[in-house]
Parts: sequence; structure tokens; C-alpha cells
Amino acid sequence: MTKLHKAYIGGQWLTGNRGSFEVDDPATGESVAKVADVSLDQVEQAIDAANQAFESWRRLSAQERADGVLAWYDKVRENRQRLAEMITRESGKPIAEALSEVDYGASYLRWFAEQGVRAGGQTLPTLPGGRRPLTLKQPVGVVGVITPWNFPLAMIARKAAPALAAGCTLVIKPAAETPLTALLLAELAEQAGLPAGVINLIPGTDAAAIGKCLCTHSKVRKLSFTGSTAVGRVLMAQSAQKIQRLSLELGGNAPFLVFDDANLEAAVEGLIASKFRNSGQTCVCANRILVQRGIYDSFIARLKTRMASLTLGPGALPGADLGPLISDRAIARVESLVEQALEAGAVQTLGAGRVGEGSRYHSPTLLESVTPENPIWSQEIFGPVVSVTPFDSEEDGITLANHTEAGLASYLFSDSLSRAIRVAESLDYGMVGINEGIISSATAPFGGIKSSGLGREGGQEGMDEYLETKYLCLGGIG
Ligand code: NAP
Repeated sequence: MTKLHKAYIGGQWLTGNRGSFEVDDPATGESVAKVADVSLDQVEQAIDAANQAFESWRRLSAQERADGVLAWYDKVRENRQRLAEMITRESGKPIAEALSEVDYGASYLRWFAEQGVRAGGQTLPTLPGGRRPLTLKQPVGVVGVITPWNFPLAMIARKAAPALAAGCTLVIKPAAETPLTALLLAELAEQAGLPAGVINLIPGTDAAAIGKCLCTHSKVRKLSFTGSTAVGRVLMAQSAQKIQRLSLELGGNAPFLVFDDANLEAAVEGLIASKFRNSGQTCVCANRILVQRGIYDSFIARLKTRMASLTLGPGALPGADLGPLISDRAIARVESLVEQALEAGAVQTLGAGRVGEGSRYHSPTLLESVTPENPIWSQEIFGPVVSVTPFDSEEDGITLANHTEAGLASYLFSDSLSRAIRVAESLDYGMVGINEGIISSATAPFGGIKSSGLGREGGQEGMDEYLETKYLCLGGIG
């Protein structure tokens, strides 16, 4: 077993006490590697290593920590192609998207290295009795991180960058489908000179037990999770025991509103970008397309032409727009969602389902006449299926858009400034794309409300997630 297939704990590359597990290539279903499967003892070993490293990492100057994160950034940039190929190999996404994921993930490393040196407290106005109040910003401590497979690099970078810059240390469990990119990232952190124990990477298949340990262990002070709402709920309940700090980036159900006064070409292109990124497998993918009746027919006609032009193929094939879905289970789920939607009255006007028996490729599919009662309305589709519903007035559009438990991303297309602002203010979501289908950036707070989670990643808000504010009251000064 090579180093890059082992767990990285306390600066050591270790085989798994539970043996190993297979990672496959979604394009072929063939095994790519066998990776260490850690035991709970090894999870505890990683927590101990992170706890020990915390004592010295937190005491470095902010600039020294920033230099460490920037050295890691440089290594990621130098290994851009290698990382992208690894992302494509284990997640199936087209290589162009994988390269842009590397750039996107790296941007968090640079941005938070720069932001960390500005993360100071405040001196506040004098209190009665001559007391002087001030605040310190201190790192939270050891942070447990659990990430999904759809952005094997970026979901780790979005958490690790602010955490390390703030002075925290990490125990990271990547998704079982995509541990290889995470291990390569850990190796690059080692090459960049980040001290042993600052980052610990624990691949494993016993997610429930690892998650419970990261929620309840006395030396872990925070859990940052990105994944499904169902698992987020479990982790939140487990964290209640010791009132552990949590960041939860959970599932979405993004509405994509197209108003009569929208620029149609921009709206179609925005939808293609939002819906088909990673073959529809992102938490911010447009999920419910709401189109005002006045432009309904012309919008659908343009959309069909554009969808028919999308090319399916292995992610490594240059020019492929859509790769395979992540697993057999994922494609079976999408097929079943489409079936249920059709039974409930939706009409399929484009698409041919799974492409080739046993494959994980699903053709771009258009479902019209979807109503809020249709089961697909309340599900995150996580596949290349466009679900469309017409609406009449602006008010109807907003009501339909907000008719969900989720509150992560939303989108609206309109050339009326006043309408865009009015509608954006009325949408119950953490993020609104206005005439834009791709919204995420290291500089901006990414996150959801309602069942889409707690906290933000990116921007100053992303830094605050890894800092405690301590208040000092200085008396006897006069
Ligand atoms: P998932 O099943 O929740 O898995 C995510 C991670 O949680 C994986 O590492 C998984 O490990 C782990 N996990 C599974 N069960 C667990 C448990 N009982 N306790 C602790 N950890 C557990 O989600 P997914 O289907 O892989 O990922 C897609 C979901 O992530 C979608 O809902 C998507 O919207 C959401 N997502 C949200 C954001 C955001 O920023 N809001 C970004 C990306 C994705 P194993 O791999 O070992 O099972």
C-alpha cells in the first residue's frame, strides 16, 4: 500500500486497523485503489495528535500560520493537474470542472491566509468605574471535519483554510467515495511543512461511529460538516450532549425563477451552468425551475436546444460536459425520482434516462408540469434532471420558491432592478444569484438557513466560525 492510500495521523502514514476499502472510478466501476479503513482507536489517536499540535500551533504568530497555509496553497497550485486528475478519477466529474475545483479550493487557502492576520479583537469604550473592556479572538480548538464526495478538494479547503489560519487543528474524515484527493492534499500539506498533527486525515467506512466520536469526544471542540440534511440532523443531536459548536452545510432545494422580463439567453445559460455542474450533483444546483407564463414557451424551446447539445462522457475525455453519476445507488435514485415524478403527473419532454445498461450516465432530462404536490418538488434531485413549473404573478413565483424546508441557494433572472431587489429580499434563502448561475467565492459567505444548515463558509463569517470571542474586563485602572 503506497503512502497516499494510508491514513495520515500525527505526521505518520498508517495502515487502517480495520483493513482497507475499495475506491472505484465512476466512469467504469473499476477499482482505482484500496485505502486504509481506520478504527475508532485510530480516530482517537488522530484527536490526541490534533490536541497536542494545537498547543503549539495556536501559539505561533498569525503571520507564521498564514505562511504555513500559503506554502500549502503553493503546493496545491504546483500540483493543479495531478489533483484535478485525481478528482476526476474518483468523482467522475469532467476534467475542466476538476481543474476549476482545484482553483476554487486553492482560492480559500490564499484568502484565509490573508484574512487570518487580520483576525484581531477590539478595545471597547471605558466602562463606569474606569474599567477597560477588550476582546480577544482565540481559536476554537480541535475541529472535526466531515466532507462529501461532490467536491473532494474544495469542501476540505473551505473548512481547513479558515480553521488553520485561526489557530485550530484538524481531524478530517473524507467521503468514502473520494478519499484519494484528500490524501494527496494531506501529503501536500506535509510537503508544505505544516507541523505533524495539525492536519490528520482519517479515511474510513464506519462513518456513523467516526461521526459520533467527533461529536462527543471531550478534546474535539467543534464539528464542521458538509453533507446531507439527514446526517446533519444526527450530528446535531449527538453534539447536543456537550453543546459542541457546529457548522452544518446541508442539502438545498434551489428555486430558479425566470421572470417575463428576463434576458432569455442569459437565463438559459445561467440554468445550464447551475443545473448541470457536476452532472447536477451539487448542493446549489437549480432544483425547481419556475418560469413565468409570458416567456414559458420561448424559454423551454431555447432550453431544449441547449440541453440537447450537452455531451456525456468520461470525465477524463476533453470536451465532455457531463460525467457519470457517483455510484450505482445514485443513478438508481435519480431513475426512481423521475419515475415517481411521471406517475405524479409530470411530463417528460426531453431525455432518454440511463445511457447504456449498467452505466452511471444519465441523459439530460426535462420534466414539465411539475406541481408542489409532486414528490420530486421536495427532493434534492442530484442528477441532470430539470424540473419545471410555470407561474403567473411575481407573488406566485415567490410563494412557490419559498415552498420548501430548505434554504441554501436560490436564483432569479429579471432585467428589472426593482423586481430583482424586491424578490431577492423575499426569498427565504442564505444566498441569491441575481442574473447569475454560479455564485460561490472565497470572499463571500456561503451557507443556508432553515434545514440547509448553520454557519457560513467564506468571507469574514467563514473565519468567525473558527474563533471564540473572549471578553477581558480590566479593573483598577482609574
Ligand atoms: P452524506 O451521506 O451526508 O455524506 C457526507 C459525509 O458524511 C460523508 O463523509 C459520509 O461518509 C458522512 N456520513 C454519512 N453518514 C454519517 C453519519 N451517520 N455520521 C457521520 N458522518 C456520516 O451526503 P452525500 O450524499 O455524500 O453528499 C451529498 C449531500 O451533501 C447533498 O445533500 C448536498 O446538498 C450536500 N452538500 C452540501 C453542501 C453545502 O455547502 N451546503 C456542499 C456539498 C454537498 P461516507 O462517505 O463514509 O458515507
